[in-house]
Amino acid sequence: MEKRECMRCGVELPYGSLIYLANIRVFADFDGVILDSEEESDPPLEQLLEQIQEADPKDLEKEVYEEFTLVLCKSCRDRFVHETQHPWEGSFRLPKGPGRILH
Ligand SMILES: [Zn+2]
Repeated sequence: MEKRECMRCGVELPYGSLIYLANIRVFADFDGVILDSEEESDPPLEQLLEQIQEADPKDLEKEVYEEFTLVLCKSCRDRFVHETQHPWEGSFRLPKGPGRILH
């Protein structure tokens, strides 16, 4: 069996021991609101299409949807959860009640 390690600190996680998995899904969302913009600040459609054609399809896909799993030890799990809830920019405003999460 291949050696298993915490993906954050690198400590060995022997088989049979408790590990923590963090499934991360990051995806683009659209609220359905299309703003009527008369300003010329938006690039023309042809330019956008050109940028899309030149971009790496994998990068474009990642921009829309990315999913990965972290394998963590207990200590890194605790830190990960704390940092997610209290990042340096300020805490995420996690909804307290039901009905706020769309997906
Ligand atoms: Zn760790």
